[in-house]
Amino acid sequence: MAKKKSKREYVWLECKECASRNYRTNVSVASGTPKLQLKKFCKNERKHTVHKIRRK
Ligand SMILES: [Zn+2]
Repeated sequence: MAKKKSKREYVWLECKECASRNYRTNVSVASGTPKLQLKKFCKNERKHTVHKIRRK
């Protein structure tokens, strides 16, 4: 059985517009941090904005 190395790390999803960290999630960092951008609802601005992953 192949052992899969899946290192998971908690990251923040940071709003690109107001830089507030609205969400926390975990991503696989087996081959570096994925450059993920997600459209999420920003509680601060009360609208949907692009959020990017921010490692702690
Ligand atoms: Zn925002």
